Amino acid sequence: MNERTLRKRLNRMTVVVIAVSIMIIAGGSVVSFHLRGILQNALTRQMESNTEQYKINIQRQTEGDLQTLNTLACFLQFGKMDTNAFMRGLLASKQYTEFDRMGYFDTSGRGINVTVDSMIEDELSLEDMDENVQAVVKDAWCGENGISKIYHPRGTEKNVFAYAVPVYSGEEIAGALVAGVGAETFEELLQDRTILKGQGYIHLISDNGTILVRSEDGVVEEKTENIYEGDYIAPQEQERIRKAMAAGEACASEFTYRDMTYQILLEPLEINGWYLFSVQMAQSVNSSIYQFMTSMRSLTVAVLLALLLFIFYGYRQIYRSNHRLIRSAWYDPVTGACNIARFEQDASEVIEGTQEYSLIAMNVRQFKFFNEIFGSRKGDQLLCRIKEAIESHIKDGEYFCRSTDDLFYILLRDTDRKVIRGRLEEMTAEISGYVVNNNGSYQIMLYCGGVIGTDVKDEEPSVQKSMTHVKFALNTARQSLKKSIWFYDTRLHEDEILENYVESHMATALEREEFHMYLQPKVDLGTGKVCGAEALVRWIPEDGKMIYPGQFIPVFESNGFCAELDMYMVEKVCAQIRSWIDQGKKPLPLSVNQSKLLFYEADYIDKLKALLEKYRVPASLITLEILEGLAMENIEELNERIARLTRMGFRISMDDFGSGYSSLNTLASLKINELKIDREFLLRLQNPKEDYRRQLIIMNKVVELTKDLQIQTVVEGVETEEDEGLVREMGCVQGQGYYYSRPVSAEKFSEIYV
Ligand code: C2E
Ligand code: CA
Ligand code: CA
Repeated sequence: MNERTLRKRLNRMTVVVIAVSIMIIAGGSVVSFHLRGILQNALTRQMESNTEQYKINIQRQTEGDLQTLNTLACFLQFGKMDTNAFMRGLLASKQYTEFDRMGYFDTSGRGINVTVDSMIEDELSLEDMDENVQAVVKDAWCGENGISKIYHPRGTEKNVFAYAVPVYSGEEIAGALVAGVGAETFEELLQDRTILKGQGYIHLISDNGTILVRSEDGVVEEKTENIYEGDYIAPQEQERIRKAMAAGEACASEFTYRDMTYQILLEPLEINGWYLFSVQMAQSVNSSIYQFMTSMRSLTVAVLLALLLFIFYGYRQIYRSNHRLIRSAWYDPVTGACNIARFEQDASEVIEGTQEYSLIAMNVRQFKFFNEIFGSRKGDQLLCRIKEAIESHIKDGEYFCRSTDDLFYILLRDTDRKVIRGRLEEMTAEISGYVVNNNGSYQIMLYCGGVIGTDVKDEEPSVQKSMTHVKFALNTARQSLKKSIWFYDTRLHEDEILENYVESHMATALEREEFHMYLQPKVDLGTGKVCGAEALVRWIPEDGKMIYPGQFIPVFESNGFCAELDMYMVEKVCAQIRSWIDQGKKPLPLSVNQSKLLFYEADYIDKLKALLEKYRVPASLITLEILEGLAMENIEELNERIARLTRMGFRISMDDFGSGYSSLNTLASLKINELKIDREFLLRLQNPKEDYRRQLIIMNKVVELTKDLQIQTVVEGVETEEDEGLVREMGCVQGQGYYYSRPVSAEKFSEIYV
């Protein structure tokens, strides 16, 4: 599982958790909503029944009052009584009723009034009365019992209303009996706490919302005149209430005052458009259920929160541990770049889907030496520097990794060589800017191999194949000192084919004796005579096309076959010397190249001994050429080996001196007999860029040193007369090169020189 998959999984988990939480919340809300609805219904029904009680009580009272008035109207037979008797009767009746005042108006509008304090006023005119009284009186004249709207009698603040009933004289309506009652009579009824049990209150209002009789228990502290005042009731609810009241219908609603919601019920009284405005404190009814619901809600939220917290914690733990795992599985611990496993995965997605890519391998020249000279901490720093440089130059959809040691792979999406070269040069320039030592004299050099998707004709492109190609190009770049970026192309492709051929055919080639010994003469610079030869291997397969050591020795060195081949060559050398001796010729000393692998083999010396015995040749005729690189490992062990070989009689030569990191130290500490100065030295002298004089001084000193150490010097690559003059002047002992002869077959060599 990589980081992307992990993140995907964790995201999926989060979505599931969120979905479950939403479902719980939604389910809870539905249940809560449902419960609320049930509660509200119960509440409304309770309010309706309570309000109905009040309505009945009020209706009962008004009906009772009207009945009383009607009874009085029957008794007070107006017209049959004289005015004084009527007035006395009226006065007497007043004392037995709860009416504040009573009066009588005949149909012509003349009237008599009896007040609370039993004052009698006569000679009244209906026109002098309040218009509300006039209205009910006129209704009574038409034979109807009536209740007036609430009004203030002149000169008072008191709320009053009037009853009026018709008074008959025989069949005819003679007038109307009127009774005035204080609105507080309703107040007493509305204040009846036995019904609402203190859980609500009731106002008497008119159908335009004006409060006619106010309950003492209102929650709204401001003494509003109208229920719509102060906007406690939401506008749309107001609208609904107005509509219901206009139609004379009951209406349930709610209002919010000081963050509390109250249920209201408007119940028509069917008197004058009066309504009972009943308010219930919602929370107080079924308060235990409300409390239960609230606690349930809080509990659910708390549980959900705890769950989320728990999941979040788990998520973090999983993420962290997986992140750590992924880092160790997919990232390089030194630089933090991706590792090869991760890179292969990313790169395969690109390579297997398109040809629009280029794969680059980047390497540092002499990184091993860098580590040895500056220490591994500096080495690691350099690797980090490389990682940063690459990272800052790659684009979206491009990848890179550090594979092993100083090997970096980069997958670019460019296919144009120029563009790729440009980008790589930018990267390498940035890396080369890294100052390693104080004076900045150490120049970091990089080399790259590249393969472009459109250049390869693999039938089934794969990362593995691309990597094989790119490694080949990288190896070519490593060997080339002049060009640091090599692209895999047809020629390299052929080389790669050859390399594959070499690897797969080496064993059979050895059996079939396809490896031949060629000899190149070594010339004594003093006498000009051939004084020996170097054995150089040539592979001549069945088709006769010669393969040169440069094409297979590096392969054999890396696959280990070199040891076998070298021993085969030693045997050829022994056989040659034996053959010369047997032919009665004076044998020439022969040099043979020995690879590092062979040199350290446990039974190496025994094998040599066996060969010397088999061919009965003196070891003194054989020079073993070893590479200076051997001394890098363990100089003491090497010296010990050299000493044993020297005791056996072999001569030891150090090959290719001056081509790599040659050091005078190793030269001084190794007990060798011969030093072969690499062809590179003569080439450098010819190069106008190189400082000729300095090179010469150094080499002169080296040659001088070898004389003191009794080491013979052989210069390789003598190609011209000038070359020879130069090396002779330096005091070198022997020369080897095309100037004298190219390597030739052993037969030819024997013919010419022995
Ligand atoms: P080397 O040991 O340095 O051998 C000298 C190489 O320089 C030979 O190349 C030779 O042909 C070439 N050479 C000699 N004189 C001149 C000259 O004047 N000009 C130029 N340009 N080149 C000259 P060759 O035979 O191709 O061998 C290449 C390398 O392969 C050898 O370099 C040696 O390291 C390796 N090699 C050859 N034979 C064997 C072998 O039997 N065993 C091992 N381990 N390595 C071998
Ligand atoms: Ca050699
Ligand atoms: Ca050499």
